Amino acid sequence: MQRTFSIIKPDATKRNITGSINNIIEDSGLRIIAQKRIQLSVSQAKEFYSIHSEKSFFNDLIKYMTSEPVIVQVLEGSEAVLTYRNIMGATDPNQADEGTIRKLHALNVQENSVHGSVSNVNAEKEINFFFKEDEIVG
Ligand code: ATP
Ligand code: MG
Repeated sequence: MQRTFSIIKPDATKRNITGSINNIIEDSGLRIIAQKRIQLSVSQAKEFYSIHSEKSFFNDLIKYMTSEPVIVQVLEGSEAVLTYRNIMGATDPNQADEGTIRKLHALNVQENSVHGSVSNVNAEKEINFFFKEDEIVG
């Protein structure tokens, strides 16, 4: 069993499609073992996406990620990190495979509906950034 961290992003909470996204997650076999709706602060968003701080899209990304509430989640399952990246689809929905969350729901390369950790180490860091262990019930 492995855990990964997910964010259902502002474009999705705004359009009331968090349930549709959770259906895709659960259909993949992943289990949602923690989730909460939060408003990201600018400083939290900057820290979370600090790896992209030099990118041209950084300021827009922070504005977008703090524009509406998000749902942060812990997902558990076999190969959770890879499984979730696969069902998310490519960053740019135009490049995403059929049936993926981003192909079905993303609006564009920025407003792409979901975030998922890229590695085990990254997942653990991201989970700890948003959740206390007693909020996660596996
Ligand atoms: P995430 O980290 O959110 O799971 P990702 O790993 O697929 O997405 P990254 O390259 O890490 O993509 O980019 C982080 C986020 O920054 C993207 O999900 C998207 O919201 C935004 N982003 C990435 N590239 C661009 C771009 N070229 N223009 C605008 N926004 C972008
Ligand atoms: Mg990323």
